[in-house]
Amino acid sequence: MLLEFVFPRYCKVCGRRLDPSEDQLCITCFLGLPRIEYRQDTLSLTERMLITEKSLVRAASLFQYSKESDYRNILFHLKYWHHPKVGQWLACVGATELRDKGFFEGIDCIVPMPISYWKELRRGYNQCSYIAKGIRQATGIPIISNAIVLEKKHSKQAGLGKFQRWKNAENLFKVTASELLAGKHILVIDDVITTGATLCSLIDVMESDIPNIKVSVFTLAIAY
Ligand SMILES: [Zn+2]
Repeated sequence: MLLEFVFPRYCKVCGRRLDPSEDQLCITCFLGLPRIEYRQDTLSLTERMLITEKSLVRAASLFQYSKESDYRNILFHLKYWHHPKVGQWLACVGATELRDKGFFEGIDCIVPMPISYWKELRRGYNQCSYIAKGIRQATGIPIISNAIVLEKKHSKQAGLGKFQRWKNAENLFKVTASELLAGKHILVIDDVITTGATLCSLIDVMESDIPNIKVSVFTLAIAY
């Protein structure tokens, strides 16, 4: 209680002060989260964006948001405002539900989307590692974060057309320890999927450089 007084906590969506019983999001914002329901028997929105990837087994996202939505603040907190725990917490909530729907069946390991060395140094963390930790918390699946690196600087995607985004995302990734992932069913984690270009680029590199893999994908959000 004293801690609440000294270090008040705020909802990562609406900014309202949290009650001691609430964590990360106030109950109103949590219940209003624009969730995407996952079903094994229908192609998810995320799966449709990655349909060209031949190793893809399944893909899901927790929620969707538009530019105007306050739920966009979750991504700002996660990436730019140094509150990556919101990603871990939400991923754990989402993964607990997905686990009961069989989403993690057969998955051997979790690989967070790599960010550039300099970006990680400046930010102090890779936000996707926090999402990965939330999934590990719910499922016990191990994280492998040292097998793929981002090779060249990722130029800014915002404001670019779809074709330019695709071109921009080409050949960004390099597999540095193929033996850690060979023969495995890998769950790739990203914070948000917009066009699918970055994820497709990563999966293409994985398919060509790591023998005999299957890939599934989890993103915290879909932006539209
Ligand atoms: Zn709220």
